[in-house]
Amino acid sequence: MATAVAPRMFKNFINGEWVESRSGKAYENRNPANTDELIGLFVSSNSEDVDAAVDAATEAYKTWRLVPAPKRAEILFRAAELLVQRKEDFSKDMTREMGKVLAETRGDVQEAIDMTYYMAGEGRRLFGQTTPSELPNKFAMSVRQSIGACGMITPWNFPMAIPSWKMMPALISGNTVVLKPAEDTPLSSYHLVQVLTEAGVPRGVVNLVSGDGPNAGAPLSQHKDVPVVSFTGSTAVGRIIAQACAPDFKHCSLEMGGKNIIIVMEDANLDLAVDGAVWGGFGTTGQRCTAASRVAVHKDVYKEFVDRLVDRVKSLKVGDGLDASTDMGPCINEQQLKTVMSYVEIGKNEGAKLLTGGNRLDGGMYAKGWFHAPTVFGDCSPKMRIAQEEIFGPVVSVIPIESLEHAVDVANGVPYGLSASIYTRNVNRAFQATRDLYTGIVYVNAPTIGAETHLPFGGTKQTGNGHREAAIAAIDFFTEWKTIYIDYSDKLQRAQIDNV
Ligand code: ADP
Repeated sequence: MATAVAPRMFKNFINGEWVESRSGKAYENRNPANTDELIGLFVSSNSEDVDAAVDAATEAYKTWRLVPAPKRAEILFRAAELLVQRKEDFSKDMTREMGKVLAETRGDVQEAIDMTYYMAGEGRRLFGQTTPSELPNKFAMSVRQSIGACGMITPWNFPMAIPSWKMMPALISGNTVVLKPAEDTPLSSYHLVQVLTEAGVPRGVVNLVSGDGPNAGAPLSQHKDVPVVSFTGSTAVGRIIAQACAPDFKHCSLEMGGKNIIIVMEDANLDLAVDGAVWGGFGTTGQRCTAASRVAVHKDVYKEFVDRLVDRVKSLKVGDGLDASTDMGPCINEQQLKTVMSYVEIGKNEGAKLLTGGNRLDGGMYAKGWFHAPTVFGDCSPKMRIAQEEIFGPVVSVIPIESLEHAVDVANGVPYGLSASIYTRNVNRAFQATRDLYTGIVYVNAPTIGAETHLPFGGTKQTGNGHREAAIAAIDFFTEWKTIYIDYSDKLQRAQIDNV
């Protein structure tokens, strides 16, 4: 299989050079569909590596912030073109290190391309406001200013898209970057950093340190010279990072867990709803923060919907994501597989009805990977743990509901608030649902996944801390407003006092 790189030792990228870790240690990155396949060795960074990367980013910031934004944009445009050229190789490498099927890794790289073009376009906008002053002969405006060296800590489920969501808005705004990618998927971040470097990003502007959370991520989030931290991952780690940021009042953006829902009303197009539930529940092996791990179905169509859903799920082909006939790949690692298996036991013990799946797949083609059968539980009550907690695997809990109001109560009755969806052909119900679902994203007649890069992405409650990624919202996070008043009256004018 052609890929962009052969297995080898991957180093940190600091101040424009590939360098060893001060720790002298490295770890293996293996294919979750076939653990015999070594993707590469990646250095295990420590706080000294993080210090060096932050020093480089802090120094580079002095000049990068002064490069005109349209010039920064030209570099991003070139990076986007390189990503287009290498999309197929990068997608294959991503399937090898992450496991999701090739169609989805192509989508992941495409998301990075879209984000890079979009943010490059912002180089000629980055609009502020001009507004009349309350005083004569006085001019008032606001402009965006960059902030400094930004720390970025990313997860493994979107190995190129998520780093691009953070890096591109940060860079176009004039900030510099230290990226700590997830342990399981560093290769895709290497590709992204390599492309940015070839496109002309100056030394020190983008830095990468690989390694684990406690040794590499924690020192980055705690570093006194990092005024901005952007994190995507679990709610438990997000809380640790928020606490690390609090003493210095760092800007801190957190994108965390979800327990997303598809609501199927009795007037829904059931074929469409089944398609949506299968894609939303089992796309990326259920390992998306927007995965539809709950499906709430109106009692009048419950049996018919569940029968059709189970038939479809039984026909899903699980296997190596590089095989074009595969519908669903493996779990990312052994730990994640064990988590899924433990939730299956929890569901059974809680009295949910196991309708299909429920077991690890092993032996034969599955012997060397972390595969789990796509699993559906029926007759779930909304308060069961499998209907409340994020599983991050191929497990869907189906909950019977009585009415739209009931469905909205169930939807909102979880600690998270990322994405929700309703299938109905009744426009009144659709609008009522979009108003009452307390989530960051709502879909009508589409599953809970499918975010586009020019719209805000994020969630409420324990999903986030009020910030949004993508779109102009990301520029808002990576810049600070500066309000400028220019008085050309040649006399002292006092706001609120001299204007009466
Ligand atoms: P996931 O469940 O997706 O693996 P995690 O929250 O465990 O999510 O990891 C997301 C990212 O956070 C990874 O890059 C991981 O290395 C990093 N991380 C884990 N623990 C910490 C920590 N204590 N401080 C900073 N980063 C961490």
